[in-house]
Amino acid sequence: MRTRVTEMLGIKHPIVQGGMQWVGVAELAAAVSNAGGLGIITGLTQPTPEDLLKEIARCRDMTDKPFAVNLTILPTIKPVPYELYANTIVASGVKIVETAGRNPEPYLPMFKAAGIKVIHKCTSIRHALKAEKIGCDMVSVDGFECAGHPGEDDVTNMILLPLAARRLKIPFLASGGIGDGRGLAAALAMGADGINMGTRFMVTQEAPIHQKVKQRMVDASELDTALIYRSLRNTARVFKNSVAEKVMEIEARDGPTNFEDLKNLVAGVKGRELFSDGDLDKGIWSAGMVVGLIDDIPSCEELITRIVREAEEIIKFRLQQMLA
Ligand code: NAD
Repeated sequence: MRTRVTEMLGIKHPIVQGGMQWVGVAELAAAVSNAGGLGIITGLTQPTPEDLLKEIARCRDMTDKPFAVNLTILPTIKPVPYELYANTIVASGVKIVETAGRNPEPYLPMFKAAGIKVIHKCTSIRHALKAEKIGCDMVSVDGFECAGHPGEDDVTNMILLPLAARRLKIPFLASGGIGDGRGLAAALAMGADGINMGTRFMVTQEAPIHQKVKQRMVDASELDTALIYRSLRNTARVFKNSVAEKVMEIEARDGPTNFEDLKNLVAGVKGRELFSDGDLDKGIWSAGMVVGLIDDIPSCEELITRIVREAEEIIKFRLQQMLA
């Protein structure tokens, strides 16, 4: 498949692995890139900018294909030196950056000067248009189905993607709710130039996550996610475990929610421990509704090859036959 995404990013298949906290490490990013997609190293998963530089070098040792770095700008428990992370990305020589969360405008001049292509992840059309206006090269349009932070508008990809196709000039990825070839074919039909998957890549051989977590996601249905931090206007879709249920219970109490009451339950470090020791109720982890479509733990190569094959078959046979 050739699309504006494969052309601009220099990749074989229009499939991007979204930045994921604690998951987007060199092994996963390299596996996705080696399979012909675009792998992404998550910047803030590395504790310091120096560690990020080392992680990028590790990824280069594992692949000679393009890969990107994600920089997410959202509320955090500890302040993040974003400027230093951005400088490090530029110094590393990486040529593609995925930004997410707040407006990436302050960092665009330095990325542009370094010849870096910027993909901004947006959860609304107004933010996508703004990203186009300030000079982002591509956007990733993130529907309400997605894992992590879907924004506060609750508009699904069935609406967002056609709107994006009507209004944007720059290429865009469909993100959220996609886990198979049907999703890829549908995203392309709705005007997207490719897809971005996070949750689906969590359940692969190469994802640095305990087998118990992967298996729990295989066993899950589409009803097994929860929305937390709604009351703080920092909504996140996470796997519905006992900790997520506790957070929702605290948020449902009368009066405004104080983040301090949630902090110990949701701290990212607990999520990281959960991923490494497989204790499913230690903290929270991001997961999208697409868990309902995941029923195996393939390698990234198997997954990407299968998704492309399924999408091609749908386009060539199923859709063609309808016209015949
Ligand atoms: P963390 O440990 O600093 O915070 C844990 C969670 O609490 C995060 O979701 C964060 O957004 C939220 N949070 C922190 N302070 C808050 C406040 N004052 N008000 C409301 N919410 C608050 O974060 P982490 O888990 O180490 O993650 C680091 C960064 O990556 C954060 O910016 C986080 O939002 C982001 N992240 C994004 C995704 C995604 O799917 N897009 C998933 C996980 C984390």
